[in-house]
Formats: sequence, structure tokens, C-alpha cells
Amino acid sequence: MGSAFEGRRWLVTAGPTYEPIDPVRFLGNFSSGKMGYAIAEALRDRGAEVVLVSGPTCLPPPRGVAVVHVVTAREMLAACRTHFREADGLVMAAAVADFRPRRRKPHKIKKQPGKAQLALELVENPDIVATLTRRKKPHQYVMGFSLETHRGPAHAIEKMRRKRLDAIVLNHPWREGGIGADDNAVVVFGADGSRRRFSRRPKSELAQALVAWIAEQLSSR
Ligand code: C5P
Repeated sequence: MGSAFEGRRWLVTAGPTYEPIDPVRFLGNFSSGKMGYAIAEALRDRGAEVVLVSGPTCLPPPRGVAVVHVVTAREMLAACRTHFREADGLVMAAAVADFRPRRRKPHKIKKQPGKAQLALELVENPDIVATLTRRKKPHQYVMGFSLETHRGPAHAIEKMRRKRLDAIVLNHPWREGGIGADDNAVVVFGADGSRRRFSRRPKSELAQALVAWIAEQLSSR
């Protein structure tokens, strides 16, 4: 392909998903959305037409990027299905909740006198990126993210294969920035066996470096 980005359509996901428990509570996670937003901006700066599907975050919409706001994993899947069809690439940086409460209670759950415990029944959410890659066209490039607390590389590489990704970015949640922080250090693994470490730096710089790495990967395809 010519330029990997100029005039190409890229889909990026960012942020957490919130899974409602009742009208005022949800299950969520600490993702800030910063990494995904920074990647959307880096792709835009290289001339891509970017659609950013974002879970709830406090971040302002990036200039020149089409933002689609979603709340739940199922809403994120629906938005991604629509936009992935036309996309040349996908960077799946969202921290999707793996489980959701089976049913959203219609009323706020009340404390019950004498009952010190509450059981929530959870069901599995769809795996968004694995669903999308089932219908991946050969020219489409898909990068995922992985956050592991132990045996990071082995788990990340297993996920890349299972979800049919072209690459996966491994970040460690507690060391060197990571979730919610302004900077991060990562290792990226390619399906072709390549591996590159990116030292700790602001997420905006890391996003530019990752996008440059994607360009290298695409040029050697
Ligand atoms: O949560 P996990 O470590 O499996 O995430 C790996 C990749 O899969 C990430 O890119 C994440 O956005 C994606 N994912 C997804 N749908 C899920 C869970 C994770 O697309 N339900």
C-alpha cells in the first residue's frame, strides 16, 4: 500500500466501558482513555481520517477526529461493527469490561437491614476485537492492547494469536505509568514475530512512536 495513513480510514477505540448495575451505579475500570485519544491524534497528524469510538472519559474530543460516544461494551461493539467495515486499520485501545451485570435493576438497589452481603450476577461481554477480526479483510491492520499483572509477554502473545491481531501492545498496570497515568512504557509484539520496547515517555510521544512502528510494519507487508 502507499502511505499507510494519508487519506486512509482508521478506527480507534479508547477509554473504559461502564456496565450499569442500577440507574445510578455501574461496573467500570480505571482507564482514562489517554492512550487511545493520543493514538487517534497521531493517526490524524499523519493524514488519516479517524473515527474514535470512546467510552466515558473526561477528555476533550480531539480536533479533526470523528468521535462516537458509547457507554457499554455492547454499544461499543455496535459502533465498531459499523465503522470497521470501511476501515483500513483498527487500534483497539479501549479497556472493555469483560463482564456485565445480567440485568440492570430498574430501581436503585437499597441496603437491606440485617443483610451484609449482596450478590451480583455477571455475564460475559462480547469480545469486540475478536468479533471484528472474524470478518477482517486481508488489507485491514488490527492492533490490540494488553494489560497483564504477571507473565505479560506470554499472555499478550497468546491473546494476539487467539484474537487474530497483527500486533499487540503490552503495558504493565503498576510499573512505569500505565493505566490512568500521563506516561507509559510498553513492549509491542507483531504477529510476524517482531518485538520492540518503547521506554517510558508521555502518552502523546508513545502514540507517535507506535504509529511510526505500524507504518514500518505495513511497509514490509
Ligand atoms: O482484556 P484483554 O486483555 O483480553 O484485552 C486485549 C484486547 O482485546 C484489547 O485490545 C481490548 O481492547 C480487546 N477486548 C475487546 N473486547 C473485550 C475485551 C477485550 O475487544 N470484551
